Amino acid sequence: MRLIIMGPPGAGKGTQARFIAEHFGIPAISTGDIFRANVSQGTPLGVEAKKYMDAGEYVPDEVTNLMVRNRIDEDDAVSGFLLDGYPRTLAQVEELDGMINFTGHRLDAVVVLTVDQDEIVQRLLQRAEVEGRADDTEDVVRRRQEVYLEQTSPLIEVYKSRDLVHEVDGMGEVDEVTARIFAALDVVPQS
Ligand code: AMP
Repeated sequence: MRLIIMGPPGAGKGTQARFIAEHFGIPAISTGDIFRANVSQGTPLGVEAKKYMDAGEYVPDEVTNLMVRNRIDEDDAVSGFLLDGYPRTLAQVEELDGMINFTGHRLDAVVVLTVDQDEIVQRLLQRAEVEGRADDTEDVVRRRQEVYLEQTSPLIEVYKSRDLVHEVDGMGEVDEVTARIFAALDVVPQS
C-alpha cells in the first residue's frame, strides 16, 4: 500500500497518518518530523532545513527529495508507506513518481483532508503553545498557509486527474475523521 495524506498545515495529517499507517502495517513517513529530528540533533541537514522552516518556507526540493528517497529505501518501507507532508511541490510529485515507478509499484490513493481555514490557524496557534514549535508564530502560521495554497494545493488537481484523490472532511473529533478516512479507503471497520 502506497498512500499520501495531504491537507493544509494544521489539518491533523500527522495524527491521522499514524492511525492509517498502523492499520495497513506500513510506516508513516513525515518529512516535517524527519526535518525536526535533524534540527534537534544539529545535523548539517537540520541546520540547512531550519532556515526555511523557521520562515514558513519550503526546504529546497533537492534536499527534500534526497531525504525521502533514502527513507523509502529503508527495509520497513519496502512493502509500502504513507507519506505525510510529501510531495508538496510539482517537482516533488515528479520525483516521487520516479521513485515509485522504479520499484515497479504504483501509488494507491491520496487522502486530502479538507478543513476550515480559521479553525486551522486556531489549532496551529494552540499547538505553538503546547509544543513550542519555532514555526508556529502567527506570521509564520500565515505564511505556511499561503505557501500551501500557492505551491501544494495545485497538486490535488494533478492527483485528481489520475483518479487517486479521496477528499475527507477533516473537521470534528479525531476518531470521526479517522472513520471517514477508513470509509473513503473502503476499510471495513473491526468490531
Ligand atoms: P510539517 O510538519 O509537515 O508541516 O513540516 C514542517 C516544515 O518542514 C515545513 O513548513 C517545511 O519548511 C518543511 N517541510 C516538510 N515537508 C516538506 C516538503 N515536502 N518540502 C519542503 N519542505 C518541507
